Amino acid sequence: MHDKVMVVTGGSRGIGAATCLLAAERGYGVVVNYAGNVAAAEAVCARIHHMGGEAVAVRGDVSLAEDVEHIFRAADRMGRLAALVNNAGIIAPAGRVDAMTADSIAKVLAVNVTGSMLCAGAAIRRMSSRHGGRGGGIVNLSSAAAKLGAPGTSVDYAASKGAIDTLTVGLALEVAAEGIRVNGVRPGIIETEFHAASGDPGRVERLAPSLPMQRAGTAEEVALAILWLLSEEAAYVTGTTVAVTGGRAITP
Ligand code: NAP
Repeated sequence: MHDKVMVVTGGSRGIGAATCLLAAERGYGVVVNYAGNVAAAEAVCARIHHMGGEAVAVRGDVSLAEDVEHIFRAADRMGRLAALVNNAGIIAPAGRVDAMTADSIAKVLAVNVTGSMLCAGAAIRRMSSRHGGRGGGIVNLSSAAAKLGAPGTSVDYAASKGAIDTLTVGLALEVAAEGIRVNGVRPGIIETEFHAASGDPGRVERLAPSLPMQRAGTAEEVALAILWLLSEEAAYVTGTTVAVTGGRAITP
């Protein structure tokens, strides 16, 4: 049984995949959750097995309570849960609020907010000293959009990430005395396939020169911040969200 297991939701691609690989390098057994892209999830696991690590791909929609239990039962089979990265996130096709539908708004909130809260609950039931656990860490994926609001394109998504910021603060305080630290990372423009989902695959290339550091970030750069927050080096850090934005949207 592994003494250090990490669940990464949406671990099959982008920031989640980079987090899985770095976590394995740092000695975690990794549950690579995915929604539908089994080939991508299996490829992440294959890379981890190749480096001598332990990983399992687990399909599950984080917005569904029964799927979340299935994901965490896979973690239980691997060993002691030590960390959760609430990374799974979606964005709807770009549009103004006055053109959004109830279904589309609900879907974004269900995956980004409900999913993160359901997974946090499952993790706390395993890690909290209140439930007989030995503690652990949670990192929630926010976004620069939570500060910028994403007017004209993705206010629904931005609002979901604003909710994540509040979740990070409230949950950190709720479990601070139970051996669990809860933090967030706030990525800016990161090179992943995410932007294509909003209908704007050229977004990274177009915006990169206008950013303070004049380039987009990489998934690996976000993963490094996530792993730092989960490490002993951040032992007295909880309830905060670290911007990984190359200087964008850093004002409180
Ligand atoms: P991505 O490349 O689009 O990958 C999304 C991942 O989430 C995939 O592994 C996908 O699984 C999974 N997923 C989607 N819906 C899911 C669901 N209902 N249940 C479980 N897994 C689900 O995204 P990314 O760019 O790496 O973004 C990761 C996180 O960072 C998101 O929370 C996003 O909001 C945040 N973020 C990204 C950026 C950026 O510029 N990329 C900026 C700020 C914040 P499948 O492979 O099976 O589809």
